[in-house]
Amino acid sequence: MHAESRFLTWMISRGDRVIADVTRLEDMNCRIHAYADFVEHPRYGRGPRWTGMNPRGDLSQGVYLGWHSRSDERIPDTAIEANTDRQPNATVPVTHYFDLKRKCRDCGRNFIFFAEEQRYWYETLQFYLGADCVRCIDCRLAERDTKRLRERYETLLADDHRSDADNLDLAEVAMALIDSGVFGTRCLEHVRCRLNSIPAESRVRRHATFRDVDTRSAQRLHEGG
Ligand SMILES: [Zn+2]
Repeated sequence: MHAESRFLTWMISRGDRVIADVTRLEDMNCRIHAYADFVEHPRYGRGPRWTGMNPRGDLSQGVYLGWHSRSDERIPDTAIEANTDRQPNATVPVTHYFDLKRKCRDCGRNFIFFAEEQRYWYETLQFYLGADCVRCIDCRLAERDTKRLRERYETLLADDHRSDADNLDLAEVAMALIDSGVFGTRCLEHVRCRLNSIPAESRVRRHATFRDVDTRSAQRLHEGG
């Protein structure tokens, strides 16, 4: 081939490659941008974790993706291989985990149930393979906090010999449960009662917590809940 046309061919192929690179970059930006409003997980992040692995579910080939790995929720190129020996006993072990797109049942925000998170659930925590993730990490943590608060509340309430500090604690916990919407605003009266049960001369009344719960509960009552 003539040197000039060789050079031309080289230029064209190089140009194609540049265009291909730009397209890939744009595509990647687009892919990342698509997850900008997803809930961020403290361990796994917000967007998909690309692995370039994209197996098709096919039992005859020994590939099973699990019943809650729906094709419209699976994010391509994010699969990781499972260690089926570590999974709890199941009729059909799951061979690969994909990052899965989800909408939180509580707050309605989008989030990813990460492939690595699934591996942790099924292989380390030994959750049964049908266990699905329907809430985002923020809502799951809030739920855990609420559960802890409720337990604390019930323990304090059951105690017949509460100290002044315990009564303040009870008022504070009840206020937190009202704030998070677990208790209705009728419980504000209960918070006021607990605070009022603390004698005027008690040192507990000088705590910052006392002032805080006192102010907030009075304000909420004043606003009509
Ligand atoms: Zn949520």
